Amino acid sequence: MASLYLHIPFCEHKCIYCDFYSVESLDSMDRFLSALKQEIELYADYSIKEEFETIFFGGGTPSLLKPKTLHEILDRLSTTFTIRRDAEVTVEANPGTVDRAKLRSYREAGVNRLSFGVQSFHDDELKFLTRIHSSEQAKVSVLMAKDVGFNNVNIDLIFSLPNQTLQRWEENLRQAVELEPQHISAYSLIVEKGTPLADMVAAKLVSPLPVETEAEMYEFTMAYLRSAGFQHYEVSNYAKPGFRSRHNSNYWNHSNYLGFGPSAHSFWSATPLGDRRRWWNVRSIDGYCEKILNRQLPLAGQEVLTEEQLVEEAIMLGLRSDGIDLYRLSSEFGVDLLTAARSTIEQLTAEHLTTLNDHTLRLTDKGYLLCDEISEVMISSISLAHTSCESV
Ligand code: SF4
Repeated sequence: MASLYLHIPFCEHKCIYCDFYSVESLDSMDRFLSALKQEIELYADYSIKEEFETIFFGGGTPSLLKPKTLHEILDRLSTTFTIRRDAEVTVEANPGTVDRAKLRSYREAGVNRLSFGVQSFHDDELKFLTRIHSSEQAKVSVLMAKDVGFNNVNIDLIFSLPNQTLQRWEENLRQAVELEPQHISAYSLIVEKGTPLADMVAAKLVSPLPVETEAEMYEFTMAYLRSAGFQHYEVSNYAKPGFRSRHNSNYWNHSNYLGFGPSAHSFWSATPLGDRRRWWNVRSIDGYCEKILNRQLPLAGQEVLTEEQLVEEAIMLGLRSDGIDLYRLSSEFGVDLLTAARSTIEQLTAEHLTTLNDHTLRLTDKGYLLCDEISEVMISSISLAHTSCESV
């Protein structure tokens, strides 16, 4: 099963922490939309037979799109690709850009999942993050979505804000849970290079929270959401049973996906050239539109993935999400992880950082705290095993 991603690169205001590609002026919206539809059509030449099971409008702020426009894009996708009848169709929504009529029209256009960028239920925190909406608007938007028939709603939250206390974070989680969403994504604030937030940190205007406090908040989040009936199925993602994001799960399972719009990435495991390839679009609306006008795919770069890279990604993505399926790793790549990394796995299990059940190696809550470090250790154990085999 495969996925489609559409990057809508416009925001009413650029948040201080964000490094996704988007622009504040809507002047080039029409030009962009026309190019986007043409980019989709360019893929008709490749006669892709695979069925697509998820469509995700991300950004940027896709909820700036008029329902009619969204409808037209979905129509264009359906005439170019085979879309499953029960496809998951998600729109990321900024609470400051939606009203009841728009949400109802999205639903009628075929959108069946909304992901609200709420981030916090404290107005002072929203102000710090320079979000365009209030806490009240966020709550009203989620309730309106449910009211017009959405029964698959995600709330995005950010923790570990400068000066945030565990108590204030707990209040955010509590208010999110009270709105009864099917899914919650809780990310820690990352200071991304080149953002206004990074400049503020460099100028010592704000200080990131100590890592111990961030770890405490993360552990609290896992326990709190589990007790509220959510399954923790990826580092930052929690879902009620049956409501995991199929789109993101496809990314984490190494499924095929095509991305459209400036800066969008794609991955295909059996290209017409017989390789596994990742490619990405130019990160500029002008550059994107110009290439499309010349009937070229708007590529900025691409890479052919080696078997070794794919194994490393499978380990990293597996650990981040629902665990590494050892059967799959063996059948797809011929890697017997239990043999190649035996002592590492034994040690991690003894330290209660991983568990091994049903041929799946999973992180424990304690392990999730060290996800990146454990991935590195696991990957280097395999490389060492590989090197020692070669030198025999
Ligand atoms: S609304 Fe979302 S995409 Fe736009 S700047 Fe803020 S965080 Fe980034």
